[in-house]
Amino acid sequence: DRAAAADAPVTPGALADGTAVPLLANLGKPQDAAKAVELGAEGVGLFRTEFLFLSSSQAPTVEEQTKAYTELLQAFPGKKVVVRALDAGADKPLAFLNDAHEENPALGLRGLRALRASEDILREQLTALANADAATEADLWVMAPMVSTVEETEYFVTLAKEYGIKTAGVMVEVPSSALLADKVLAHADFASIGTNDLTQYTLAADRLLGSVSSFQDPWHPAVLQLVKATGDGGRVTGKPIGICGEAAADPLLAVVLVGLGATTLSMAPTALADVRATLLHHSLDDAKRIAGAALAASDAASARAAAQEAAAQHT
Ligand code: PEP
Ligand code: MG
Repeated sequence: DRAAAADAPVTPGALADGTAVPLLANLGKPQDAAKAVELGAEGVGLFRTEFLFLSSSQAPTVEEQTKAYTELLQAFPGKKVVVRALDAGADKPLAFLNDAHEENPALGLRGLRALRASEDILREQLTALANADAATEADLWVMAPMVSTVEETEYFVTLAKEYGIKTAGVMVEVPSSALLADKVLAHADFASIGTNDLTQYTLAADRLLGSVSSFQDPWHPAVLQLVKATGDGGRVTGKPIGICGEAAADPLLAVVLVGLGATTLSMAPTALADVRATLLHHSLDDAKRIAGAALAASDAASARAAAQEAAAQHT
């Protein structure tokens, strides 16, 4: 019955053939960690650090950041926790990082670009993360947002390692990084695809603008091609590829993303149960076949329909 099902231990994410697909949580504050664990999160795939400081006028101190990151890491002993460096600008403006008016903020000094322009803030964040890492038992991974070149990847990973961060990577949110994923990954320990921004930049449609919201659909085969390019980069370099955009929360799309080469999925904790259940219905070969059907479509609606049809035909 329902009560018994709710008490049953949550199994780790896996496909029908036993292939592990760790299911992780997207979080914005340490206080949400306990609920995520309860819902079966095997770790954190995206901790959005900027959410802690959206209303701050001053840059956060090393002390206050150390406290917040320590609280987060303490909730996941022995588990992977991917923390993203401050992603300031466009939909997430931070007063202490974004001051200039920009006509097109999504194409402006945001994400890693903004951190690089205020490198002290990035250095303080890395200091706080290293402090929290030293005081806790979690497996800390750190990544940079909105990376669009191989050179930016080298810059960020080199700096993070200077602070003792053992696992450093980048988000793939811009088509340039997806297309050069093998070269990006030659300098990074991992990549995580942000499908929200990747869709925005692929379809050239502002994710905040209602009048173009119909373009913001991660089922679009052009977006799927870029996920595949990133997955292929992960395969040739032997590096893990996470997905941390909203797309991972759509159960059938989650199967497609795994078929395209994603090795972990991160989502809002409330989406974990449905994605876990759907993955168990498909083997890796099945997921590749379903992904192939979606990739061959020419628009988002037909990609979704083709995947549904392919998923219904079990081999
Ligand atoms: C994304 O862009 O998909 C992502 C995960 O980051 P955010 O939504 O915070 O920009
Ligand atoms: Mg993003």
